[in-house]
Order: sequence, then C-alpha cells, then structure tokens
Amino acid sequence: MRKYKKSDIFNEIKGRVRFKESLKRHTSFRIGGAAKFFIQPKDIADLKLVLISAKKYNIPVFIVGAGSNILVDDKGLEAIVLSLSTAYFKKISYSQQYLEAGSGFSLNRMVSGAARHGLSGLEFLIGIPGTLGGALAMNAGAWGKKIADIVENVTVADYHGNIKKLDRKNIRFVYRGSSLQRYIIINARLRLCKKKKKEIQNTICEYLKARRSSQGDLALSAGSIFKNPTSGSPAGKLIEQCGLKGRRIGDAYVSPKHANFILNKNKASSTDVIKLISLIRRRVKDKFNIELEPEIKIWR
Ligand SMILES: Cc1cc2nc3c(=O)[nH]c(=O)nc-3n(C[C@H](O)[C@H](O)[C@H](O)COP(=O)(O)OP(=O)(O)OC[C@H]3O[C@@H](n4cnc5c(N)ncnc54)[C@H](O)[C@@H]3O)c2cc1C
Repeated sequence: MRKYKKSDIFNEIKGRVRFKESLKRHTSFRIGGAAKFFIQPKDIADLKLVLISAKKYNIPVFIVGAGSNILVDDKGLEAIVLSLSTAYFKKISYSQQYLEAGSGFSLNRMVSGAARHGLSGLEFLIGIPGTLGGALAMNAGAWGKKIADIVENVTVADYHGNIKKLDRKNIRFVYRGSSLQRYIIINARLRLCKKKKKEIQNTICEYLKARRSSQGDLALSAGSIFKNPTSGSPAGKLIEQCGLKGRRIGDAYVSPKHANFILNKNKASSTDVIKLISLIRRRVKDKFNIELEPEIKIWR
C-alpha cells in the first residue's frame, strides 16, 4: 500500500464511505473483523473513482454482495470492501423474454419479480440468500440447474475502471465459480421464457418446501462449506459418514441436519470455523482419500 491521505481517495466520492466497518454486519455468518474502508458507490462514475484510487495507492479491493458465501478473518481487512448496494446497482427491468438487473439485486426478490411478470427460468434460485452479482461470480445453482444456463450477457468493470459487456460465450462458468470473479459485475441480462404465473408460483413453492426439509434452520451460516466431489457421494454425505454431524469447535458447529453446513451458534470466530474446516477435511481424507475443496470464499 502506498502512503495517502484519506482526502486523496474519498473526497470526490458521492456514495457512502465508512471507515473500520465491521464485516459481521455484511455477512450471513456474522463473523469477521472490520474493513479499513467500506464503500457503497453511488453509480458507475463513483465506482471508477474508487478503482482508480485503489490502483494508484495499491489498496486491495474486495467485492461483497449479500455476504452469504464468505468467511471474513477476525483480524479484518486492510482493504477497500466495495458493496454495490445503492439504488443505481439495484435496478431491474423485464421484457418478453428477458430480465435485466443490477448486480446488487436480491436473488429472492428477482425470482418473485419474474414470477409476477409471468417469466420462468429463475425458480431454482429461490431460497438462495445472495445477490445477482454473487450468484454470477459463484455460478450459483440448485436442483441440477445453475445461473450460467440463463445468462445472455454481463456488464462488468475491470480493476482499472474500464467497463465492458461480455457475451455468454466469452464467460467461463465452472461448478461454483466463473471467470467473472476477475471483474466487478455491474449488471446482467438473463434469458427467461413466458409461462402461466400459477405454474411458476407452484414450482417456487415446491423448491422452497424441498429446501426447508433438506437444510433445516440455517441462521448464521454461509451455505455449503465444501464443493461436492466430481464423482461419488456429495460432501455432506461424506462428512456425515465420518460421524461429524453436530461436531463443535468453539461456537462453530456442523449442522445436525445437513453436514455440509457449518453454523455459528452465537459468537463463533473465524478461527473456530477454520479449525472445523481443517478437521473435516482431515477426517474425510483419512476415511475416503478425498480432498474436499472449500466452496466458501475465505477473506484474509
Ligand atoms: C442458507 C444458505 C443457502 C445457500 N444455498 C445455496 C444454493 O442452494 N446454491 C448455491 O449455489 N449457493 C447457495 N448458498 C451460497 C450463496 O448464497 C451463493 O453463492 C450466492 O450466490 C452468493 O451471493 P452473495 O451476493 O451473497 O455473494 P457474496 O457471498 O457476497 O460473495 C461471494 C463471491 O462473489 C463475489 N461477488 C459478489 N458480488 C460480486 C460482484 N458484483 N462482482 C464480482 N464479484 C462479486 C465476492 O467477491 C465473492 O468472491 C447458500 C448460502 C446460504 C447462507
């Protein structure tokens, strides 16, 4: 990091700038220290200003959506955390076959909005507590479907502040990841299809019911901790077969309902969670000779 005065970076920013902002408030795990700078840019011009300053003074930049797939270190981050959560990044519009939304838009609100417009294709995302930006970066999916399948194009900024529109064919999506993680996602156009509203609503209800019965109460978690191995049993089954359901370190414990979830009982630290992750990986490696790979992003 190069030497700078706060005024060098923040004076021109029209959005909200907070200093030493606790990231507990911005993650579903409710774990983690403070970000040195927490910035909600007002619009693209603001975003560019932040990115240019970050490059100039060599300050690392992290992007948070709804924080539902992130574990933040208790020591916090000597960095700028960008949150695209102002009105500019939460716009949405619908047409006959498409939906276009800002990256800060909530997935659940997007699913219900599309349903109200008789647009089908997003129902599988119901119950995922993220934003559109987070879902594209992570290639979020459920019930055998993934967001990659409905992407038409995505507008992004690179870390120099250049804006470009990427067509689907120029984006690489993999299981729980994508080449979009190299950028700041600004908005996206998704391809949907017309269907009877009642049918869409029924599918949404079925997915929600199935989610509740397989996952139980997931308050203070970050979703699946590990990716499923490419073949054989899913990660949750392997962890369960190691007898680790309910296993606790500090205030972090393996969900008794779905073993691929770690829950924060109350005051879990990032160290508690990381120790539990290491224990699980060791046990699964010893018993099945499988290396579980974390799905969550660990920020430190
Ligand atoms: C209870 C629960 C259930 C879940 N169920 C599922 C599920 O069924 N399927 C599934 O796939 N996931 C699931 N998840 C995980 C998570 O909700 C998804 O991965 C979600 O898409 C993440 O979105 P987010 O906005 O919270 O992203 P964050 O957690 O904030 O960020 C995740 C990653 O995306 C990056 N990112 C976020 N926004 C942007 C942006 N605008 N530009 C560039 N990068 C960005 C971040 O830098 C980070 O690397 C679940 C989580 C919970 C807590």
